[in-house]
Amino acid sequence: MNTKILSPLFVLLLMFSCKGQTETTTEQTLEQVEVKTQLFDADALLERVKFLSLDSLEGRRTGEKGGLIAREYVVNQFKKYGIAPLLSDYTQPFSFEGRRDKKTYEGANVLGLIKGTEQPDKYIVISAHYDHVGVNDGEVYNGADDDASGTSAIIAVAEYLKNNPPKHSVVIAAFDAEELGLRGAAHFLEANTIPKEQIAIDINLDMVGRNDNNELYVVGTNLYTQLQPAITDLELPENFKLSVGHDGLDDKDNWVSSSDHGPFHKQEIPFLYFGVEDHKDYHKPTDDFEFIQPEFYAKAVTVIISVFERIDEMRF
Ligand SMILES: [Zn+2]
Repeated sequence: MNTKILSPLFVLLLMFSCKGQTETTTEQTLEQVEVKTQLFDADALLERVKFLSLDSLEGRRTGEKGGLIAREYVVNQFKKYGIAPLLSDYTQPFSFEGRRDKKTYEGANVLGLIKGTEQPDKYIVISAHYDHVGVNDGEVYNGADDDASGTSAIIAVAEYLKNNPPKHSVVIAAFDAEELGLRGAAHFLEANTIPKEQIAIDINLDMVGRNDNNELYVVGTNLYTQLQPAITDLELPENFKLSVGHDGLDDKDNWVSSSDHGPFHKQEIPFLYFGVEDHKDYHKPTDDFEFIQPEFYAKAVTVIISVFERIDEMRF
């Protein structure tokens, strides 16, 4: 464990969110607290973003070399954390025609399964997209926040769930071809991978790694009001804001179809989308690892896990 990253503040953050474990006594050392309360490996969370946003991955464009390296990496991370494949293989290949260039693209979602202990036939999908926009005019668009941050975060959630088995079955979905029109998520639904009636919700993460105002948005609770208890009076880390909105019912930009939760919503499957306001590096070659904010990012993942726990308590 790298103690440089686990600062006392971060240990406190992990303590608040740890449920059902014995309270820390004053005799215990910080070291013990770290071990006892850790929800996920915060170093590994960052390492994955670093890898996925390397120049050598060439912006992870669907079907291209860097996209294939990213796919293989995500598969190996699933294996590393003992996540079973949802299908006979970890990947779900699909092909489609690009809307603008009319080219044929070969994509593949990476899908893992953590079986539920009480309602195994109802599925919570936790998604993020591992593709990005590739190289333009010789410049690599690294997509560290968009959406290497979400991709690494869903693996952290999976790591947590392996140690804290969920009541509902959980699909860990790293979708492909989001940047080409939410194609991986659309394929997941079109292929009837999980029958629609058995999908309780999609919890989608896209751009969760940085925000100068320490503000993370959760979208969907104004559309699916039955989900509001999942965020009401939620205990939040210090210096962290969870805001609602952007769901087409206020004067903010409408984010209802802005990422892979869109196809779920279209089929009237409830969703929660977690993401930040666009920053100056959004869809620019400068969406780099160095601008990820480790503390905000780890807090965001912790809050998402807290919301997941509330959702998992619900009846679908
Ligand atoms: Zn994105």
